[in-house]
Amino acid sequence: MYAVTDPATGELIEEIENATDDQVRAAIERVHRGYAGWRRRTVEERTAIVARAAELFAERTDELAAIMTQEMGKRINEGRGEIGVVVDIFRYYAEHGPALLADEPLTIKGGRAVITKEPIGALLGVMPWNFPCYQVARFVAPNLVLGNTILLKHASICPRSAVAIEAVLRDAGVPDNAYVNVFASSRQIPWMLADPRIAGVSLTGSEQAGISVAAEAGKNLKKSVLELGGSDPLIVLDTADMNETVKATATARMRNCGQSCNAPKRMIVLADIYDEFVDRLTKRVASYYIAGNPSDPKTTLPPLASIAAADEVAGQVAKAVSQGATLRTGGRRIGPGAYLEATVLTDVTPEMDAYAEEIFGPVVLVFRAETEEDAIRIANDSPFGLGASVFGTDPARNTRVARQIEAGMVYLNTAGGSQADLPFGGIKRSGLGRELGPAGIEEFMNKKSIRL
Ligand code: NDP
Repeated sequence: MYAVTDPATGELIEEIENATDDQVRAAIERVHRGYAGWRRRTVEERTAIVARAAELFAERTDELAAIMTQEMGKRINEGRGEIGVVVDIFRYYAEHGPALLADEPLTIKGGRAVITKEPIGALLGVMPWNFPCYQVARFVAPNLVLGNTILLKHASICPRSAVAIEAVLRDAGVPDNAYVNVFASSRQIPWMLADPRIAGVSLTGSEQAGISVAAEAGKNLKKSVLELGGSDPLIVLDTADMNETVKATATARMRNCGQSCNAPKRMIVLADIYDEFVDRLTKRVASYYIAGNPSDPKTTLPPLASIAAADEVAGQVAKAVSQGATLRTGGRRIGPGAYLEATVLTDVTPEMDAYAEEIFGPVVLVFRAETEEDAIRIANDSPFGLGASVFGTDPARNTRVARQIEAGMVYLNTAGGSQADLPFGGIKRSGLGRELGPAGIEEFMNKKSIRL
């Protein structure tokens, strides 16, 4: 069942039945048939449509932001910001598509060759609720430009976002068999992936969902791209301005109510500034992040996406405390909506569950590192490897540390975030493959060698 439940109140607003197996098969047939026509269009035709989609997303910013606020509790201003990034992504691939898909001449032993950049077919997208529009955009925009068609299964708590995105694409001129939303259930995914008309799959979401989808894709010899969880480290080596550093790190952690895969979740602070950092961070988190209605632009702490999510994160915090972590502030659930106080935990040790697991909510963990090497060791002592940040005043030292971190992305003196032209993705248990930037259009591409 797909359902819209307002996380600020817990009120059920709408329920939508899952698609039947026959409806799912019909949707697969549509994108399969659509592929033949869509791939034959010129790159210029496809990029013109994708550019038009960017303009429509921009025009519908307020409508889309309001849907996300109602479905998953995103602060209204953050929703508007998210659509700004979506617009950038569609514009980026519209503008750079022709160059990214240009033939690549190659001189080879005994002659010449050319590498052509071709699509592979109809793709399945399985998308999460934390950034209902952005996550879809970074999969859809490059693949539409490339010539692949898309069947999209959105998260079951975001059906209205799913419908609104499909409407933008349709109105922009994407044919109704080149992008199709389907209210499939995750139980239908295995046989959808076994269907020969589906050429590949991209999933953003939890590790468990990723494992399940990658296993099914593997069984069927299909390519998968996985953007999974993270527990990104943020190393503070030293700071020119403690207040600014504390503010920047708290802002990055609390963005989207802590529900970002690449938010900095583990602050690792060198010993000589640790006590001051923890004190100031605790004060900032306790005084600035106050629960409120996500539709009110002044609200600083919205609800989590669902009551179940809030209960789960509160449970992780309680467990950490029962295992010996120090609760500096927060930790309590606030009802009736899906609220959790903004929380700071310290003294988390490797024996505790919180040390290695992802905490997908407004919870900051702070670790003390004795030296730079110790900070790098703690940063890398994680099953995840999505992003990381380094804060410090010496650029050469920041870069030296960045090079030693096991992650797909490192940000210097800034934390988290995402932009259209910068590749995004992780290593270790954070996933496989890259999205955005030039790399994002290559994942489902047939780089065909033609020997001339
Ligand atoms: P899920 O991974 O369960 O949901 C993401 C998407 O995957 C949804 O469309 C979901 O469908 C689908 N899905 C779930 N299970 C399967 C499966 N076995 N096979 C195929 N598709 C599946 O995320 P949750 O909502 O349960 O969130 C749990 C945790 O996941 C979070 O706490 C966080 O750690 C992580 N997460 C990470 C995200 C990221 O940006 N990397 C985004 C969201 C979550 P349906 O909604 O119908 O279940």
